[in-house]
Amino acid sequence: MKKLVLLIMTLLSLVAFGKSDKLYVGTNAEFEPFEYLENGKIVGFDVELMEAIGKKIDKEIIWKNIAFDGLLPALQSKKIDVIIAGMTATEERKKFVNFSDPYFVSSQMIMVNTEDSKSKIIKSYDDLPGNVVGVVLGYTGDIAVSKVEGVEVQRFNGTSEAIMALNAKKVQAVVLDSEPAKNYVKTNKNLKLINTDIAKEEYSIAVGKDNKELANEINEAYQSLVKDGTFDELMKKYFAQE
Ligand code: GLN
Repeated sequence: MKKLVLLIMTLLSLVAFGKSDKLYVGTNAEFEPFEYLENGKIVGFDVELMEAIGKKIDKEIIWKNIAFDGLLPALQSKKIDVIIAGMTATEERKKFVNFSDPYFVSSQMIMVNTEDSKSKIIKSYDDLPGNVVGVVLGYTGDIAVSKVEGVEVQRFNGTSEAIMALNAKKVQAVVLDSEPAKNYVKTNKNLKLINTDIAKEEYSIAVGKDNKELANEINEAYQSLVKDGTFDELMKKYFAQE
């Protein structure tokens, strides 16, 4: 009897969940131009993309701003339904979540401080050993730099903290995704970008491992935004000048 009640309750909650018209979407709004705060509001490329997907699948998006390394745990514990955060679909992360089709290709770049004599001589990954290198905790940059022998890795909680340390000459380089890195170089004239030949990465939207249906819905919505030109408009709006 108890089992039956439990089964019915589970089924009822599944139905209720399936019908929910809200999607709780986690991001980390410190990754311009994908997601960042403007007058306290989360804005950016990912935000507009997810809002457009929400419209297509008839769901209201409720945004949650979470530290980057807290996003996957929040998804796994079902505090959120979706992550969109310039998140690279790595093999390791694929073990824990379902990723959508990739929507953006990126790579890791090195930033140096031209006002720091030790920093400005760094020209490639090979020059990193012997230096203190800043990364953001849990980012793919963290994973890449942690593999380089002889580097002292300093992990920060957010990108702006890493940039502050580079400006203050506390680290000799920061390794970060290409687009946010380009943004920081635009606004910090003393910083310089070094293009690295490190492998390309693809950003995808993540949903729970047991939520294949939502992943399919998101993919269909994304494909129709590509077809109707909305995605292209967004690309132009955020990346036209490059
Ligand atoms: N693309 C990087 C990663 O997935 C950084 C993402 C981010 O900071 N939002 O780790």
